[in-house]
Amino acid sequence: MTKEVKQWTIEEIEKIYHSPLLDLVYRAATIHRENHNANEVQISTLLSVKTGGCPEDCGYCPQAARYHTDVDNEAMLSVKQVEIAAKRAKLLGSSRLCMGAAWRNVKEGKEFDQVVEMVRTVNALDMEVCCTLGMLTEKQAQRLADAGLYAYNHNVDTSEEYYKEVISTRGYDDRLKTIENVRKSGVTVCSGGIIGMGESIKDRCGMLLTLANLKPQPESVPINALVSVEGTPMEDLEPIPIWDMIRMVATTRIVMPKTTIRLSAGRTTMSREGQAFCFMAGAASIFAGDKLLTTPNPDIYGDLEMFDILGLTPTEPFSKHAQPETKDDEYEGEKEKIRWSRPAHKIEKNLEYAGKGKK
Ligand code: SF4
Repeated sequence: MTKEVKQWTIEEIEKIYHSPLLDLVYRAATIHRENHNANEVQISTLLSVKTGGCPEDCGYCPQAARYHTDVDNEAMLSVKQVEIAAKRAKLLGSSRLCMGAAWRNVKEGKEFDQVVEMVRTVNALDMEVCCTLGMLTEKQAQRLADAGLYAYNHNVDTSEEYYKEVISTRGYDDRLKTIENVRKSGVTVCSGGIIGMGESIKDRCGMLLTLANLKPQPESVPINALVSVEGTPMEDLEPIPIWDMIRMVATTRIVMPKTTIRLSAGRTTMSREGQAFCFMAGAASIFAGDKLLTTPNPDIYGDLEMFDILGLTPTEPFSKHAQPETKDDEYEGEKEKIRWSRPAHKIEKNLEYAGKGKK
């Protein structure tokens, strides 16, 4: 008989989030120890393979072409450049390379073929390969799976209700559809979000509600703290207090016990003590390197020193799931008819900043 998976309610998640902090961390740490090696933290590297010029209007993102930021539109990296970056990341302790492209959705053609080759190349280095390329069809997900993709990242970002305050160029359902397509291909799912975008606590819990009620739950959930960037509609938002991050990580751990929680953007403003609290509460991965796509991140040597102080060991690759086999690319370039939505709603703040932006 299969065990019935719990269906979470928003009230239950909010109650956990608001419980006394030390009780919350103790409960989360206990669940973490039952399901994970609490002294292992994965080091992952996030590499932007195609930076800037994105047609979307995500209010937090300096890569959106419509906002005036210091991020310029750059040509795509070559497979060789990615291979060199992956080898360097591996030497410095990373067991996962996540490649990001500033696209609305994956389009058939030379650039996608190149990403498929990158996946093949990095998998051959025995690293976990993750991609974040925007919306993805079932066939595209399958093609990446056949190349050896281990994980696909597609964040829901926030609650369904607050999503309309952040992004107007796509809908929440599109996000869920891509996650479903990834799931069907057998690639593991990485999906999380950002806190500190002006959302309420209910929205934070609402995001966890969406993720925790996915069947199966995502293997990986990144929790980001907003890094506000000049020129974006969220440029004036202050960094969130570390206590919010700890509560968020701990609540995630309790509602998704087996998931790998990734302490992602925003670590530059977190003390080591604060990060240690997050590891205690269930975070089991950091992103290494002085840049996270385009925003600042602590340098790897500082992180390795923190590991030393805390007695943490970097997680070995494929310790949770087997390494995918790379198969021959039999793709014939047939077009799928899929229409991603373009919601009609407008976000005034995004419009205002787009007005100031470069074309
Ligand atoms: S978050 Fe991704 S989809 Fe949104 S604007 Fe930035 S690069 Fe584009």
